[in-house]
Amino acid sequence: MGNNDILTLFDVDGTLVRGARCHYQAFVHAVKKFYGMYEDISGINYAGKTDPQILREVLELGGFSERTIEKNFQNCLEYMIQYYLKNVHLENVIALDGTKKLLDILKDENVLLGLTTGNLEPIAYAKLNRVALDQYFPFGGFGSDYAERALLVKKAIKLAIAKFNFKEEKIFVIGDTPLDVAAGKKVGARTIGVATGRYNSEELLKSGADYIMDDLTDKNFFMESIGL
Ligand SMILES: [Mg+2]
Repeated sequence: MGNNDILTLFDVDGTLVRGARCHYQAFVHAVKKFYGMYEDISGINYAGKTDPQILREVLELGGFSERTIEKNFQNCLEYMIQYYLKNVHLENVIALDGTKKLLDILKDENVLLGLTTGNLEPIAYAKLNRVALDQYFPFGGFGSDYAERALLVKKAIKLAIAKFNFKEEKIFVIGDTPLDVAAGKKVGARTIGVATGRYNSEELLKSGADYIMDDLTDKNFFMESIGL
């Protein structure tokens, strides 16, 4: 019933929440353990990239060959998850303004809610659980599914069709980076750029977002954007 012909797919970092100290530490500890790499990796721009993409970039920065990178790549990602789950109580994550209210309204309106994030799936849910936002998202596409963002968005859409009888009519991808916008466009979704990450409204507009929001507090604008 209701509006399950509308699918909204939310990014996590910079869109729903801010703060990922523990997530960052998971990268640091994992590359130390499996590659003996101690370089400072704080200079990399992680925004909008998937965890496997970031890990690869970090290791390439460390000068490792493709063969060496491949050898422990999956183990390294797995270790990151274990590290994160063990230390998530130290995560400094906070929910961004307006998120909970907006999600409550969308849920009440029976709009389908999914995640599209580069986070590895267990990390995404543990992170959102810290601020009680995990419960809104029964499915999604994650960095643990695909390194390429457009593919994980596609996966989320497929799940919506399979699990919720979604008719693939109105799809909205909500994210804070040009990479979110690009991935959404690639799968034919409408995109909502939210300027709560490291990109401002102009940059998101320039990347081709259909709608721009300073943050997620303007519920009316959001609802109008998705046609409600
Ligand atoms: Mg983001």
